[in-house]
Amino acid sequence: MRPARALIDLAALRHNYQLARTRHGGRALAVVKANAYGHGAVRCAHALAGLADGFAVAFLEEALELRAAGIRQPILLLEGVFAADELVEVQRHDLWIVVHHDDQIRMIETAALRGPLNVWMKVNSGMNRAGFAPDAVDAAWRRLDDSGKVAAITLMTHFARADEPHVIATAEQIARFDTATRHLPGARSLANSGGVLGWPAAHRDWARPGILLYGADPMPGDGNGLQPVMGLESGIIAMREIETGEPLGYGARFVADRPTRVGLVAMGYADGYPRVVPDGTPVAVDGLRTRLIGRVSMDMLTVDLTDLPAAGLGSRVELWGRNIPVNRVAEAAGTIAYELLCNVKRVRFEYVG
Ligand SMILES: *Cc1c(COP(=O)(O)O)cnc(C)c1O
Repeated sequence: MRPARALIDLAALRHNYQLARTRHGGRALAVVKANAYGHGAVRCAHALAGLADGFAVAFLEEALELRAAGIRQPILLLEGVFAADELVEVQRHDLWIVVHHDDQIRMIETAALRGPLNVWMKVNSGMNRAGFAPDAVDAAWRRLDDSGKVAAITLMTHFARADEPHVIATAEQIARFDTATRHLPGARSLANSGGVLGWPAAHRDWARPGILLYGADPMPGDGNGLQPVMGLESGIIAMREIETGEPLGYGARFVADRPTRVGLVAMGYADGYPRVVPDGTPVAVDGLRTRLIGRVSMDMLTVDLTDLPAAGLGSRVELWGRNIPVNRVAEAAGTIAYELLCNVKRVRFEYVG
């Protein structure tokens, strides 16, 4: 069997959720959109079911998958509904919805509903992507309330730069949100992972941690005590020696500058490992750090075993996980851990904890 796998540590997931809930106070929706950032939404939701106050996904179909798997906790649709007929399903499956623009209010006003909805009204406090403008918040709230179809309205906003502790943008967003909502009752929800870890002023009734659950700290620094959840792993499936001056792999990007022992690893960009990473990107072989050399291929990549004489056929290779932070690989790829984790595919998923 091909040794490539994503080993998912559900005990680490629970640890990270509890850390977020403790750091934030109040309640926390575990964000499991995009298949739990690539970790497997059903398995992750089951692992958190005894702990989490609820879950958040992007849209209806993601929530239905969780309901079909027996998840009974509240589930919030972060993009809300795209058409009025989805409100029937929302009600049938007892889901919560974000409302972020006028058309979604109109859908609620005109829908024939059996009972009241639980709505999270999104305020645009400066990200300028989704949500009601501050001066439209009162009117939108009143329309929802007047519709007679809404039981509770939670007020929420989303940060553009919570992962940058030294810029003022997040403090400005908090102030703008507070001003825009000052006359309105109801629970508040501001903090994503960056807000939970870096912005105590954003801690209100509900947190919405996503990436931190999976152990990738969005803040610069020490990791905040989070535990990595995914180990992306494979094995050495072949070896060879190349002489000084000999090329390796597509495009001959790497040329040996010394006699080099090359390990061939069953992992490629079709598995979600990023093709763009340069020579020197860290990998761990049997727990010891070495470097990627040569271009990443579709199914394989190559690593330098010259300084690891004990490594050989069958040695375990970690692309990211406990030894190699996924943030480090993301940096080498010029992207963020979110994207790398969401992109993992084709490998076997194994769950522990
Ligand atoms: C995805 C998302 C989150 C989670 O963000 P992280 O940065 O992963 O913690 C929270 N709130 C909303 C509205 C989101 O779309």
